[in-house]
Amino acid sequence: MNTPVSPTDSLSPATAARLRVVLVGTQHPGNIGAAARALKTMGLARLVLVAPEDYPAEEAYRRAAGADDLLGDAPVVATLAEAVADCHLVLGCTARSRRVQLEEHAPRQAAALAVGRATAGGEVALVFGRERTGLSNEELQLCHAAVHIPANPEYSSLNLAAAVQVLAYEMRLALLEGATATTAEPVHPDETPASHAHVEGFFAQLGDTLDAIDFHKGRTPDSAMRKLRRLFAKADLTEQEVRLLRGILADAQRMARLAGQGGTGSLS
Ligand code: SAH
Repeated sequence: MNTPVSPTDSLSPATAARLRVVLVGTQHPGNIGAAARALKTMGLARLVLVAPEDYPAEEAYRRAAGADDLLGDAPVVATLAEAVADCHLVLGCTARSRRVQLEEHAPRQAAALAVGRATAGGEVALVFGRERTGLSNEELQLCHAAVHIPANPEYSSLNLAAAVQVLAYEMRLALLEGATATTAEPVHPDETPASHAHVEGFFAQLGDTLDAIDFHKGRTPDSAMRKLRRLFAKADLTEQEVRLLRGILADAQRMARLAGQGGTGSLS
């Protein structure tokens, strides 16, 4: 006989509460309802909607069945950056494998990472794209890694709510196992992990600094910035490290200004 799977109350509510699912630009309100139902069946409760096309809508509530409480609690925000500003790990789900220069995980690996990070106190987002076009490149740039369900390569695009169900199920299994990925242990226990918004502030300043020192020399900055984003995603920055890096950038910007004015300053 199979052992019955434990009920929801065996999940750590604090850890589960740090996992959010973000739906970006959803076109069919029925998919929003079905995603809410998918989450609730797996003991997850946090849904965030980014600029849904047709919402609130009757159809969403119909498809949510008994999960309308979760829909009612779902904040609606204008941009993905806003939805993940306080997150420490952001995973973008994509129907097309290797579409982006991001590290790519299968759902099981992604769930272990997500639950590991949430267990360590971090806020985690799993991001899903539009039915027609998925996530834009700019949106994927805001993610630390991509997640791809290894479906039939010739027909790899799942229905949005079905993809949410697969990931929610894997997260539940990881939560039931009390998964602790290697990232669960902070490398610097006395430092605070940098939030997404902190790191985005750093990237904005890094972009300005590279312009100021004429790093790109006429090339478009996109490729270098993508590689730099990937590099810093691996570094798992703390707030203190972001402050240090921004201090260095501020000095580089100051020096570039002095050089531009023909001043010698401390460049001499
Ligand atoms: N036509 C779109 C597919 C969108 S499906 C495209 O080619 O990108 C809607 C969303 O469901 C996707 O953005 C993604 O977040 C999720 N999804 C669908 N199939 C998936 C898969 N095989 N792996 C991971 N996510 C998937």
